[in-house]
Amino acid sequence: MFDQDHIAEAIAWRHDLHRHPELGFEEHRTSEMIAGLLAGWGWRVHRGLAGTGVVAQMGQGAPVIGLRADIDALPIVEATGAAHASTIPGKMHACGHDGHTAMLLLAARQIAAEGVGQGTVTLIFQPAEESEGGARVMVDQGLFTQFPVDKVFGIHNWPGLAPGRFVARDDKMMAAFSVFDIEILGKGGHGAMPEQSDGVIAAAGRTAAALQEIPARALSPLEPGVVSVTQIHSGSAYNVCPDRAVLSGTCRWFGAEAGDIIEERVRRVAAAEAAAQGCTANIDYQRRYPATINSAPEASLARDVAAEMGLDTAMTGPSMASEDFAFMLNEVPGAYLWLGAGREGVNPGLHSAKFDFNDAVLPAGAEFWVRLARRATQG
Ligand SMILES: [Zn+2]
Ligand SMILES: [Zn+2]
Repeated sequence: MFDQDHIAEAIAWRHDLHRHPELGFEEHRTSEMIAGLLAGWGWRVHRGLAGTGVVAQMGQGAPVIGLRADIDALPIVEATGAAHASTIPGKMHACGHDGHTAMLLLAARQIAAEGVGQGTVTLIFQPAEESEGGARVMVDQGLFTQFPVDKVFGIHNWPGLAPGRFVARDDKMMAAFSVFDIEILGKGGHGAMPEQSDGVIAAAGRTAAALQEIPARALSPLEPGVVSVTQIHSGSAYNVCPDRAVLSGTCRWFGAEAGDIIEERVRRVAAAEAAAQGCTANIDYQRRYPATINSAPEASLARDVAAEMGLDTAMTGPSMASEDFAFMLNEVPGAYLWLGAGREGVNPGLHSAKFDFNDAVLPAGAEFWVRLARRATQG
């Protein structure tokens, strides 16, 4: 579909973005580059939603399709050794959002060259996907009231699937998530005289074990859910019983009821385990992203387009990881899609310091966007 030199240029944009990663809401250089290229191809460009967001439109009237790419990087020290490795210490594109951005730009160039016959194509370049919820901020600031769309789509490269695979589930795609910090407080004392202090360490250990049992015992065995304690901080000496411990972690689920049950149980278990050891617990529990749930007609459209390209659309998943595209799917019908992007041999996962977007799948991702835009704007 694309000229070879256009593909080479898109890969060069990807490498340039990779060399200059920017964290959530700080994607100024990235945003500048995207807006400049789009304007040069004749897109109507709007900037400023969520600060660094870029929205661009081509065509007129209904139907309107929205295509979204995330643009932010992660606070990770890169260890790929690639020629295009990050030049900014402690920041890297370890989730492939550089690839998502380049894919949508390559598609935008092609769509502009072909023209939009009927309806409107709306491109959404979204900041801060990684745990900050840039999608929510764009929606709250009027994304879909200023730029109404009939359907919206997002793609993530998926290193767990081989190139040529493409997944568009009809419903559950990615889980909802929360984060929690539990501070356990009690009386500290001499390590040789436990009877004179409260059981802060025992409470922390029992709480960690009990929290992780919640999905197994409080949810139906048919209902997915996860509680992971990922940090425990306490103590400073061999012979001192500490007076404070902090546990932190994350919960995942799909159904609204499961989310309520998990939160209530986390609070109850932490309070009860602390009390059993003579301690108190301060619980900070924050819900972050809702579940990413596709609508079936849009998922089916995406599979049709992928199949027309010869991609294998066999279903797999869902994933218990989370994605802030959920905030857009809460507003508008649409689908979140996985593009197989694994590598032969060593294949680091998303968020690994050795992860590097697989450029070999960039043209397929862009071609999917162009074909989807053609199909969706035909009405
Ligand atoms: Zn990520
Ligand atoms: Zn990502």
